[in-house]
Amino acid sequence: MRQSRTFIPTLRESPADAEIASHRLLVRAGFLRKVASGIYEFLPLGTRVVHKISRIIREEMNAAGAQEIMLPIMQPRELWEESGRWSKYGPEMMRLKDRAGREFGLGPTHEEVITDLVRKNVSSYRELPLNLYQIGSKFRDEVRPRFGLLRAREFLMKDAYSFDRDEEGMRLSYQTMYDAYGRIFTRCGCTWRAVEAATGLIGGDVSHEFMVPAEVGEDQVALCDACSYAANVELATYRRHETPRGEGKALEKVFTPDRRTIEEVGEFLGLEPSRLVKCLMYLVEGRPVAVLVPGDREANEVKLARVLETDEFRLFNEADWRDHPQLLQGFVGPVGLDSVEIIADEYLRGAGGLACGANQADYHLVNVEEGRDFRVHRFADVTSARTGDACPRCGETLRVEAGIEVGQVFQLGLKYSEAMRCYYHDEEGVARPMYMGCYGIGVTRLMAAVVEQHHDDRGIIWPPSVAPAILHILALDYQREERRRAAEDLYRACMERGWEVLLDDREESAGVKFADADLLGIPFRAVIGKGYDEDGSLELQERATSRRFRMDRETLLAHLQDTLDTLEVTAGGGGG
Ligand code: ATP
Ligand code: MG
Repeated sequence: MRQSRTFIPTLRESPADAEIASHRLLVRAGFLRKVASGIYEFLPLGTRVVHKISRIIREEMNAAGAQEIMLPIMQPRELWEESGRWSKYGPEMMRLKDRAGREFGLGPTHEEVITDLVRKNVSSYRELPLNLYQIGSKFRDEVRPRFGLLRAREFLMKDAYSFDRDEEGMRLSYQTMYDAYGRIFTRCGCTWRAVEAATGLIGGDVSHEFMVPAEVGEDQVALCDACSYAANVELATYRRHETPRGEGKALEKVFTPDRRTIEEVGEFLGLEPSRLVKCLMYLVEGRPVAVLVPGDREANEVKLARVLETDEFRLFNEADWRDHPQLLQGFVGPVGLDSVEIIADEYLRGAGGLACGANQADYHLVNVEEGRDFRVHRFADVTSARTGDACPRCGETLRVEAGIEVGQVFQLGLKYSEAMRCYYHDEEGVARPMYMGCYGIGVTRLMAAVVEQHHDDRGIIWPPSVAPAILHILALDYQREERRRAAEDLYRACMERGWEVLLDDREESAGVKFADADLLGIPFRAVIGKGYDEDGSLELQERATSRRFRMDRETLLAHLQDTLDTLEVTAGGGGG
């Protein structure tokens, strides 16, 4: 690529809406532009990176026995009705009608379409196992598109689906994908970890997410360094501290004027926040439910959804408080709350010496004991683990770390095959539902995650495996005949070897060229400047380390060849 003729519209300023490094740098370096909220254009350099990542994914998927296909983005409503997700998916699915009024969704994921394909075309145990994948656009009308490629509305995903005869086969397919995922993220230059994950709208029982640790990550992961327990906080459990017991003291009502927050009430009563019972009112499928958590914790709504067995719930809003005048906003407590179901966090089982709202304005109750003063209908794990909690497996200390979810794998079991009748015939001719798995990688999110892990304040630092080019040739004072000829000559030599290089053939100052090169982040740089005038030597610079080596042209080419050789990983093997 000649820089003078390549479309690389760099910017001096960061876009106003770019809050994180990957978004800022990818736009400034001319890889990316925004069309509308959460919708992006990939310019030539950005497109190259997407292709590099996709190639690594394809190599590993193919080596793992998956076959590439292409599925439509437009999906008929009828298929989604069969799985029950036409209504369940809600406004996140973009919907449209054709001229005849038939309804379609723009695929946020492809379980329905693939299950339909397989049920119509696979009927015998001999054709299983089967693993099909694609790399294509997904649409999700996210509530809050942000962080550039990390949470977009239209984005590129690799999604794979496995079909097996039985549960054991499904587990094997799952493990094969899990292993391939690890190799993919490593080859893309990321440090990553696999963590236990909740299954959400996709469904199934067993799932892992692949997390790239990064401060800007929207996911929180609970980790134990002692026993390697790792789980998304949406699902991570923790050992509760010993529950405080009551001392048999009589229930007492205390006047607590103007004290509203847990901290204010706790201070006033001389109690630790964990002794205060937070009574959260939820409207669950139209009926009120009280959720009790210790005052120093928040309710975890992902866990709550599992306990309630529905996604249809929300914290009381103003209207809900008005609809339930017997519940006094700000002073609700479990004592005497006979009309509503009460769910409490495990921590409160048998707890005493508690304080809670008295269901009367400006009053709290103290010396409250669970069991004696109020009854809980269900105890459950409804609070999140946090740094310092005890590991559920070994009891050592957990820490919570932020991460970017770049991939997720699911054991779906029979969820879709039973709902959509995706059956095969076994040796005896008996029809059985197929065991399914599904496996996603956010290709464009992964590109941003790579940048989050590889940048400095001057720009991007691409790992060689996904870089838009391996070498950036910079001739300083390009109008100088000698230097220009040397640069053109090196450029040709690289092209003959089939390498991807970018030649900065612009008549810009050295300062501009270096600043742009830092911003673009191509791993190696060959500088043709003073040294060349002196003794014909070039300077090889490493973007990642800023190290510089003076050498002649042949040595430079040999050095690059070595680097490229080490990149040639055999897919599926993970090594030379
Ligand atoms: P999230 O929890 O971040 O919304 P998800 O769990 O809903 O993601 P999956 O259904 O597991 O996403 O999709 C597979 C992969 O697609 C994710 O692991 C992620 O890398 C990517 N992905 C999901 N949503 C987006 C998005 N809005 N923008 C970019 N990539 C996304
Ligand atoms: Mg996910």
